[in-house]
Amino acid sequence: MIDVVLAPGRDRSVRRRHPWLLSGSIARVEGVPEAGAWVRVLSAEGEVLGHGHYTPGASLCVRLFTHGKEAPTEDLIAARIRGAVQCRARDPLLADTDAVRLVNAEGDALPGLVADRYAEVVVVKFTSAGMAARRGEIANALREASGAPAGFERADRAARSEGFRAQPGILWGALPEPAVWIREGARRYCVDVSRGQKTGFYLDQRDARDLVQSLARGARVLDLFAYTGGFSVAAACGGAAGVTLVDSSAAALEMARVNLEANAPDCGSAWVRADVFDWLRSAEGLFDLVIVDPPPLARTRRDVPRAARAYKDALLFALRRTAPGGLVLGFACSHHIGPDLFRKVAFAAALDARREAQVLRVLGAPVDHPCSIDHPEGAYLTGLLLRA
Ligand code: SAH
Repeated sequence: MIDVVLAPGRDRSVRRRHPWLLSGSIARVEGVPEAGAWVRVLSAEGEVLGHGHYTPGASLCVRLFTHGKEAPTEDLIAARIRGAVQCRARDPLLADTDAVRLVNAEGDALPGLVADRYAEVVVVKFTSAGMAARRGEIANALREASGAPAGFERADRAARSEGFRAQPGILWGALPEPAVWIREGARRYCVDVSRGQKTGFYLDQRDARDLVQSLARGARVLDLFAYTGGFSVAAACGGAAGVTLVDSSAAALEMARVNLEANAPDCGSAWVRADVFDWLRSAEGLFDLVIVDPPPLARTRRDVPRAARAYKDALLFALRRTAPGGLVLGFACSHHIGPDLFRKVAFAAALDARREAQVLRVLGAPVDHPCSIDHPEGAYLTGLLLRA
């Protein structure tokens, strides 16, 4: 195994068990490790600090799997996959669904790997050279641990910066025909695992969907950034008086229509294909529950000021469309916009909208999206339930 030696004084984050090593901390690499190879990380004084996967030329150049002297076993990745899958299988909070995140990257001590189970299919994303180089081994481990009849790889934007070739397509078995359907309590959703966003569906909003379902009775619901209708279906199942869905993607709205039809064909619904910001500026009418779930607007720290303004605008216009006493459920899905900042954004929106608002709940991702205490960057989802 090739050694990566840190510069003097640059060992603090590794000693604190952070899973990422940035190239700026490295003094030298004793050899030329292949993309994705195991490397051993040493302090400037020669103490072994851990082991990880190497990505040549990247700023995040080592993802650590172990901390301390002990070298990783042959079976380390497969064993962690088994552990992560068993954890979900035993979790009472996940008993009522067949769609769960089985592996959540750093959150499960498996940096570079995400795997989501949608009924019969496990959808896999490799986001590091190290994990992509072990595709076969990982597919076997996921197949054995989950017992799922099919596995499917989705390409991720990380492939380019990590320098590997994504191989989207079947990993094992075959995709169910004509479609993949999942179950969440009483709700059913059709999921496009090969072309849908993320791995096909927003599993991370399951708890929020349950909340919406419990809050929706009799409500006029506005679902902004509706995608395939995750929240609208929950609202309709919860007895909403009507749902209005706004999204810029025709394909997403079409799937949302299929989902609403399958769950609550009698719920009145309106479909708007538009830019949410444009639509909100000219929209009329009031709603009792407004959901604002935009895509990640801040991917890097530099994006934060612009993103905060966009979140503020979205919440501001949403508040204007909220009936007195009505609810706004707003989300930010970026680690860079945490609960404190998002609360400030909501405060600024309420001030500009001249609405008083109460914070009723702060939400995060559900239990199948664990975040390692060593890796705060893994916490990316914040939700605020406001009463206006
Ligand atoms: N709330 C959804 C997930 C939203 S994902 C769920 O729980 O399933 C973000 C969605 O916003 C995507 O469907 C994308 O098509 C849409 N989108 C992104 N920018 C938009 C914009 N400016 N106006 C309207 N829709 C937008």
